[in-house]
Amino acid sequence: MADCVFCKIISGEIKTDFLYRDDEVVAFKDIKPACPVHFLVVPVKHIPEPSAIADEDLKIFGKMFQVAGRVAKELGVGESGYRMVVNVGPDAGQEIFHLHIHILGGKKFGWPPG
Ligand code: AMP
Ligand code: ZN
Repeated sequence: MADCVFCKIISGEIKTDFLYRDDEVVAFKDIKPACPVHFLVVPVKHIPEPSAIADEDLKIFGKMFQVAGRVAKELGVGESGYRMVVNVGPDAGQEIFHLHIHILGGKKFGWPPG
């Protein structure tokens, strides 16, 4: 998608240090970290939100969870724990309409979320 920030990161048009990268999934640090550990796991394919996931792409989302957990471990929050968040639509504050998981750690979170 021509004007999608995450597609530009994946294509290399916007420079980022990848924490993980293969042909289906990438992970990189959030540019505005909300806590000590904050990275994003993103499918290479431009999928705007969960209801747009095609049957043939279901496997990607299993890999996204696996990558999230492995990178969280590498960044030192595997034992202390972390939160995984997917913002969908305006009430959740979704800014980038390329589906992604936020992985947040390095602090204690309240529940329910604000
Ligand atoms: P969301 O509100 O769930 O759509 O989150 C989008 C996230 O992408 C925000 O936390 C932004 O800080 C982050 N973001 C925007 N541009 C970049 C970028 N160039 N590199 C890394 N993260 C970004
Ligand atoms: Zn995109």
